[in-house]
Amino acid sequence: MNWSMEKLEKLKALLSYAKGNSNFYHKQLSNFNPEELDQDIFTRIPILYKEDIIGKEETLLTISRRNNLTTEYTSGSTGSPLKCYKGISEVLRKTKDLWTFRKENARVNPKDLYAMFYAFTENDLKTDKIQLVDNALYLSMLNMSHDNLNDYYEALKEYKPKWLLGVPSALYIFSNHIIKNNYNINELSIKYVEANGEMLFDYQKKAIQRAFGPILYNHYGCREFWCLGMSCHEGNMHILNERFYYEVVNVDEKGIGELVVTDLSNKTWPLIRYHIGDLVHKELMNCSCGNESPIIKITGGRSQDYLKIEDWTANPILFHYVVIKMNRLYPDSVRQFKIIQAAEKVLLMELVPGKNYSRMIKQKLKEEIKERLPNQTEFKVIERDFIPNKFGKFKYFETYKRKENNGDGSKKSAISNYS
Ligand SMILES: [Zn+2]
Repeated sequence: MNWSMEKLEKLKALLSYAKGNSNFYHKQLSNFNPEELDQDIFTRIPILYKEDIIGKEETLLTISRRNNLTTEYTSGSTGSPLKCYKGISEVLRKTKDLWTFRKENARVNPKDLYAMFYAFTENDLKTDKIQLVDNALYLSMLNMSHDNLNDYYEALKEYKPKWLLGVPSALYIFSNHIIKNNYNINELSIKYVEANGEMLFDYQKKAIQRAFGPILYNHYGCREFWCLGMSCHEGNMHILNERFYYEVVNVDEKGIGELVVTDLSNKTWPLIRYHIGDLVHKELMNCSCGNESPIIKITGGRSQDYLKIEDWTANPILFHYVVIKMNRLYPDSVRQFKIIQAAEKVLLMELVPGKNYSRMIKQKLKEEIKERLPNQTEFKVIERDFIPNKFGKFKYFETYKRKENNGDGSKKSAISNYS
């Protein structure tokens, strides 16, 4: 798709501002003159990979805009999260963009009570099974076994949130629980279900819609940019063409490539040609729903196998939670980790120690994790110099192949008992 004049002007302004005000882009764009920018020149600007800016996030900030910053971290599946900055104007604009979609899709508004599957609260690292904070009812993913799922259903009945938010894998497990137990969904007040944070697969979509009805919408986004797209009632993912410039690079013969995004409006912490890496179909298409912004088809992205030990089920984010907690208490203690479920009750943690790692920290880490696992689970920590990245994208949790899984090793295998 060729650039409009408007897009060209926005990108010129962004590049010029970033180059003039951010130390990082002063260097990164030293060979580029924003005034001479065109579509071809733009593709020669180096792609920005997360690994390149971890640890020097601050150098991307523009000098004049350092007050009142909002900071948050990516989940950091390598163990090192990226610190993301936004100014007040970005937060307001991005919040408005997201709520415009939600209002259009389901007439929910920011004051409505909602329920959310969560791992831990960002500020105080709390992991209560169920907690009500302001207008959010938090339901833990750290244990999604039968009894807990019943308690979540009861909580939805009692508190009557208007909508439900969660990663597809958690929504899928909960939906199957509803279907299996023949619960009457009319007892709840859920008018809208939003999936985010992982790739939404068709089998998940079907189960969630079977449980809740045709009220499921897919929110595509990340911590770096927040909302990058939202599905419509036709099920197509609309992008925010005015806010971002979307590119697809390394396209294969089927037209599928990796997503690279430039934020046209974040001048506080510019991200220019930032590699998201999710696999998308190259051509931006139009939709029949009435929304004129183009749609993208995401064909591969973040997905999640669940940790299952006999009847016990949990989102493996629980390991992240403990590693994040350790790194907050003892900075640079764990740099990277990977969990391998070697047998039903045997878990191995491969771990790349940071400079403050010690026997005491290892012991604490093991205790924290064992406390959250079923009794009699064997849990071992093995220190490594590095953890090889076999599949291009780092996968931090591997289950062993159970015999009942037909040996196809599909993504569904870890939760096959639910389908
Ligand atoms: Zn549409």
